[in-house]
Amino acid sequence: MLFNNGTITFRLATNRRRNETMTATRLDISDHLTLVDGLPKPEWDAIAGRIEEGIGPDERFAVWTGAIRQWMNRMRSALGEGYDVAESEHFLATLPDGVPGDVVLRFAEKCRIRMLEVLPDIGAFSAPGKEALLLFRDRATCDKYLSLWSSDADTDRFLGGAHVREGYPHVAATGLNYDHLEDTLAHELIHLSLCHLRLPLWIEEGLS
Ligand SMILES: [Zn+2]
Repeated sequence: MLFNNGTITFRLATNRRRNETMTATRLDISDHLTLVDGLPKPEWDAIAGRIEEGIGPDERFAVWTGAIRQWMNRMRSALGEGYDVAESEHFLATLPDGVPGDVVLRFAEKCRIRMLEVLPDIGAFSAPGKEALLLFRDRATCDKYLSLWSSDADTDRFLGGAHVREGYPHVAATGLNYDHLEDTLAHELIHLSLCHLRLPLWIEEGLS
């Protein structure tokens, strides 16, 4: 990955709440969200480096999830009016108005459970924080986003979706038509559950 952001600075803020167990460390990643073609592209290597360096293993999931949340919010503002961010137990999504976040995330959670049941030995969702979904209103915006990642994206063009493997594995898809979106999500979530195995793509496609 190419970095051209001058001095990298990070702010680590510890929010101590009344209950010690609620202590959460937040990593501000705004300096690592470079705008490319108007869309924020996270510098995953730099973010991962800071988290491995400064965050204890117990807090990493929460800190990664916080970083993904910041990326999603930045993406929402970059996309302009008509986008929202939604979150469930295992997923974070940026999605266009007209796509019901609660329905999409309930479906994603169901797919996740199903895959862990069907592929108990090999299926795993291995992202270091919550799983990330980027849903775009139209194909052109989705394609523009995918062009930020030069390689390593499994693009299922017939489904209008892709599983991006570079950096933090995530799903990008186009979807205002919810029925179609369900098919796309189910397929791409299988890629997400298998990517930790680094299988050749044709094997993943066979299982998807
Ligand atoms: Zn595929």
